[in-house]
Amino acid sequence: MTRYVQPVPTPDDPYTGDRLLRSWLHRQLGADGHAAAQGRLSDLAADVAGPLRAAHADAEAHPPTLVRYDPWGARVDRVDTSAGWQAQRAAAARHAVVALPYLESARGTWGAAARVVQHALLHLYGPESATFTCPVAMADGAAALLSLPEVDAGVREAWLPRLTSTDPDTAIVSGQWMTESQGGSDLSRSTTTGRPAADGSWRLTGEKWFCSAADAPMAVALARPEGAGRGSRVLAPFLVPRYAADSPLAGTTAAAGAPAPGVTVHRLKDKLGTWAVPTAEIGLRDAYALPLGDPAVPGLVRAMTLVVVTRVHNAAAAAGGMRRGLTYARAYADARAVAGGRLADNPLHRGTLGALAVDAAGAFALAGHAFALLGRVEVGADPDAAAELRVVAPLAKLATGRLAVSSASEYVECFGGAGYVEDTGVPRLLRDAQVLPIWEGTTNVLALDVLRAVTREDAGAPLLRRLTAAVDLARPLSPALADTLAAVAGELTAALADITADPQAAGVVAGARGLALRLAAALTCALLVEHAAWGDEQAEVAARLWARRRLRHEDIAGDAHQHLDLLC
Ligand SMILES: Cc1cc2nc3c(=O)[nH]c(=O)nc-3n(C[C@H](O)[C@H](O)[C@H](O)COP(=O)(O)OP(=O)(O)OC[C@H]3O[C@@H](n4cnc5c(N)ncnc54)[C@H](O)[C@@H]3O)c2cc1C
Repeated sequence: MTRYVQPVPTPDDPYTGDRLLRSWLHRQLGADGHAAAQGRLSDLAADVAGPLRAAHADAEAHPPTLVRYDPWGARVDRVDTSAGWQAQRAAAARHAVVALPYLESARGTWGAAARVVQHALLHLYGPESATFTCPVAMADGAAALLSLPEVDAGVREAWLPRLTSTDPDTAIVSGQWMTESQGGSDLSRSTTTGRPAADGSWRLTGEKWFCSAADAPMAVALARPEGAGRGSRVLAPFLVPRYAADSPLAGTTAAAGAPAPGVTVHRLKDKLGTWAVPTAEIGLRDAYALPLGDPAVPGLVRAMTLVVVTRVHNAAAAAGGMRRGLTYARAYADARAVAGGRLADNPLHRGTLGALAVDAAGAFALAGHAFALLGRVEVGADPDAAAELRVVAPLAKLATGRLAVSSASEYVECFGGAGYVEDTGVPRLLRDAQVLPIWEGTTNVLALDVLRAVTREDAGAPLLRRLTAAVDLARPLSPALADTLAAVAGELTAALADITADPQAAGVVAGARGLALRLAAALTCALLVEHAAWGDEQAEVAARLWARRRLRHEDIAGDAHQHLDLLC
């Protein structure tokens, strides 16, 4: 008897095989703009399907280690990473995954939509980057913060070109040191302090509890300036060089790669997932730091520039991971036989995949919209985009994070037992998805942020306007879809009016997560409708099925199985 060996599933090219991505780019960039991006996207897709897939596997198989002492007893706090991780780092620089929206040439070609192209790069790069998307996000957030006019020009000139370099030899990424053991969500509990030095630099002292990309040459740390008082608003962002080479406090004899004086890496976290990312606990004792803006001016609002960027990156990572999980699950279904036929022809399995494809399309549209808004805020300071982004950033982050976890669980199941076996590479889909609703703000914390935005800043208004406009766009496509959207718009209008009357009521606070998820689901439907109305057939099906699944809570498998080939 011959031993059966399962043919290896071969996923499509991540760029040419992703119809929704391509049509989205066509609409957002125009035919010429998309044509101008095609070379970059094809190059990256080819790298992803080739050397980067291997680098990803290597980085996952060889997690980072911390070397605390050199052979002679000197403290070195060196984080050793794999060749795969270094290859991902170099690729992120070469493909301008961080740099693109800052490049003059990109802004010249795509204007505000350079962020749309960056989202496409992240969508391709992220899912098999061994979570190098985490340092990428933080580097982009740091670059956005350094770009603020209130940041000292000398500091900007010294560090921004390194963050946005496309040369792997000079490009750096950044960490962000915010969370402390006593409070991650509740930053008012932060105890790290900053005191000014005579030369305009500062010294930071405190303990940071979760510091990802602990090998990065810099970090943005939050600290309480001496005498600033209590609360979180007064916390100020500082740039902390991680290595002696960038710290004027180090002697000229400091060894290459030596830690900056006062920066101690206590240990690396042993995490559920994101194994390749070095996440450390870091102590600061009078560590050299450069203020990002005037520390006397409450700084949390400046730090939010960074946080908005990392949150939309989180949404991109969630949506990208969902799409790649779908691609793999579909490839496996094409290659696997069950019940006398191909798994991919089985109506029950097709229904499962079809529903997942609808969720993936929704997550993509939501993340893509957030990037488009971010671009309009940065290039042109569009006030409407700023008002909408205020609520879309937390909504996109929280909704896609949850979708990514539920989808990843299904993708693992789609592979049967193989999905539970480490060296297939499938289990990490679930492990790594689980971080998405946690870091950069948990679901509840973001839901409270949305509640604040809609009750104090009238941030619900742009969403309701988008929903109302989508009802008219949906009418010629599907009267049932238009009716659903109209009903949801009415319910949300009433709900927002109700909660604004007493936003502190315990019932309102308890319902914040439900409200945020309903707002996100409605917005997603509107975005899919907009894309459908532009002429995209896949978005039309996805909008109809999304409305039934996520707004009317119906089982769509019976419909979704028929549309699977269009949806993925
Ligand atoms: C893999 C990984 C990497 C990370 N990397 C970094 C990093 O590089 N830099 C960094 O600064 N941080 C990092 N973090 C930390 C992360 O941002 C925090 O863990 C997160 O913000 C939650 O904070 P916490 O752990 O203190 O949990 P808590 O804030 O204690 O939350 C515990 C629970 O309470 C809930 N909760 C908290 N506040 C409220 C509220 N007001 N109302 C209702 N519910 C609430 C939360 O939703 C959660 O369910 C990382 C975390 C992980 C898992």
